[in-house]
Amino acid sequence: MRVLLVEDEVPLADMVRRGLVADGHTVQVVHDGNAGLAAASTGDHDVVVLDIMLPGLSGYRVLQHLRAAQVWTPVLMLTAKDGEYDEADAFDLGADDYLIKPFSFVVLLARLRALLRRSGEARPTVLKVGTLELDPARHRVFRDGTEITLTPREFGVLEHLMSRAGEVVTKTDILRAVWDAHYEGEVNVVEVYVGYLRRKIDTPFGTRSIETLRGVGYRMSEPG
Ligand code: CA
Repeated sequence: MRVLLVEDEVPLADMVRRGLVADGHTVQVVHDGNAGLAAASTGDHDVVVLDIMLPGLSGYRVLQHLRAAQVWTPVLMLTAKDGEYDEADAFDLGADDYLIKPFSFVVLLARLRALLRRSGEARPTVLKVGTLELDPARHRVFRDGTEITLTPREFGVLEHLMSRAGEVVTKTDILRAVWDAHYEGEVNVVEVYVGYLRRKIDTPFGTRSIETLRGVGYRMSEPG
């Protein structure tokens, strides 16, 4: 595999590089965040090993920039146990895995192999129904190229409906997918949100993309 290693601790970077090369991999090593971002942006690597505390640009910022630019190379982040960041932050920002320092090289290699196996899986792609587009990765919605601003809850409801376009989706399905698992309010809250959505994604554009099936639920389809 082609590995990009972004690590400013030179002895550690050398150790990892030598181990990977000995195992038959190609390794590019850079020692600061900006160089890491530039190298990773080429998309020429199968996997990126990214330290968090880096000079120039932190590993978190590097990762943010990469994902915003739609670069989906799998990233394994290296975190320090006593650092101010933790693995939850890493996953929030789109890391695929993390390893706490100090780590054994054997474990790193096993994690990288596992990442590579998983990387064949599909990444979230832009959902399209008629002229409506929803980009899960960038959290943005457009109708005919016009951006529509939605609240997080509205976005969740729309994403759920669009991912099942053409199918009947019950209010309970939507509630389970978008609201907290322990939500104990009325399923009718879904009606309220579908109403908000229609006022944003349909009414201003003269479209009708969310059909109500009385007593059953909703169906999202291309407006006729
Ligand atoms: Ca560091």
